[in-house]
Amino acid sequence: MAVLVALVSFLAACSPAPKAVPAGRVLVVGADGLEWSVLRPLLAQGKCPNLRALMERGSFGHLGTMTPTLSPILWTTIATGQMPERHGIQGFTDADTQQYTSASRRVRAVWNVTSLHDVPTNVFGWWITWPAEELCGTMVSGASATALVDVNWKPSILPDVPDQVFPAERTAEVMEIVKRASSDAEVARLAQRIFGAQDADLGPKEKELVQQTAWSIAADATYAEVACAMMKAHPAALNLVYFGGTDVVAHRFWRYYEPSAFQWPARPDTEALWQKAAPGSKPLAELLGGPRAASALARAIPNYYEWFDELLGKLIASAGPDVNVVVISDHGFHAFSTEAPNAKLITGHHLDGPPGVIVAAGPSFARQDGVEAFVKGTNVVPHGNVLSIMPTLLALMGIPSSREFPERALGDLLTGAAHEHGALELVPSHDAGFRPAKKLDVSPAMEQAFRERFGSLGYIGLDDAGTETPRLVDPKRFDPGAKPPDKE
Ligand SMILES: [Zn+2]
Repeated sequence: MAVLVALVSFLAACSPAPKAVPAGRVLVVGADGLEWSVLRPLLAQGKCPNLRALMERGSFGHLGTMTPTLSPILWTTIATGQMPERHGIQGFTDADTQQYTSASRRVRAVWNVTSLHDVPTNVFGWWITWPAEELCGTMVSGASATALVDVNWKPSILPDVPDQVFPAERTAEVMEIVKRASSDAEVARLAQRIFGAQDADLGPKEKELVQQTAWSIAADATYAEVACAMMKAHPAALNLVYFGGTDVVAHRFWRYYEPSAFQWPARPDTEALWQKAAPGSKPLAELLGGPRAASALARAIPNYYEWFDELLGKLIASAGPDVNVVVISDHGFHAFSTEAPNAKLITGHHLDGPPGVIVAAGPSFARQDGVEAFVKGTNVVPHGNVLSIMPTLLALMGIPSSREFPERALGDLLTGAAHEHGALELVPSHDAGFRPAKKLDVSPAMEQAFRERFGSLGYIGLDDAGTETPRLVDPKRFDPGAKPPDKE
């Protein structure tokens, strides 16, 4: 505890005496769309050893999610513990089809609340955090800009975008890392590792899918390096890191990963179905690379997961000894468009709300037995939902929850002081005195880039995405065989 107190006094943005006493340090690693059915065989084969080690000494299971199952909504729900109609982030873009910014959020996120209590907090690449917010710690925002026009929709950090780092004087330090971690050579090396394919074997459509994923590879590599360096240079009690590529690769390469779920491209009327989906397009047979491409790309999703596990190991090492680690995903994934191809060849999806992943290990977390049975089985083990994370993190930080939160801390997972903090008397609200939400003027170029990127996934094409009533999905009742709500 003395370490935490000493650490606070070094940070100019925080008051020297914290108003809360954390139970321990915490690292939250968010992996978009991380799915147990992909992890299970990998864990059984000894792949993803860092996640497995956390499971062996901690707790694990399914995190319930909600519909509409869209990343900006869910990651803001996770960070605020409040429903979308309260936190105000209802999709990728607002009613005027303008991108949301951190100024659009109507309630305090966990980093705002910890800052109120002078608890140092670092945030890296989280959704809807651009422009970077003033906090007690370091924030490297998730932004989007014209440079992202080549069809990617995940938060990134780019040179020449203003206000990506708080405190601003750490910008040069961060940008040095960005340059190195996302160099052309480094991204090409990682893409080769993940796709393992020769360019000559891929069809033009497959090259496009690879290219669309490459930007997320660059973003994930960059945020991992930035987070490792900044956590060492500027340690904090609470650290949050977000990765988007686990979602991107699953949307695009599920058909190669689980070909048995897909009737096309083998069925005789595939070309007719393709012409219906993408009128005037070249024949699908010309756009796809054939068996060699298929066999290389079959490993794309597992390869990405294995790479993510390596990044997880590096983050844990950089966060220092005795850190509490929480790995979460906002939703799971499954096969999509199995009967006929869709125009964008998106073959994995989650809009019907499959449950996500939660793994939590460290001095403040309980140890749950049965890793082997869980890894070998298909059993659903529910541990709360996306609304449970905020109160749980506050308990770890020694801060009471608010009566406005629909869910409480995950008491079954917590031990010691964190468990006791979970039972602290609730405060009426954490949002008194929070700045009013406002719409920021984003340059038209940046906005256009944003829209085009989202368009590539088809999210924006879902007319009702912004009006669907948010609804929690019980992980035990989730039926992957049910008809998805969208038509794509
Ligand atoms: Zn997704």
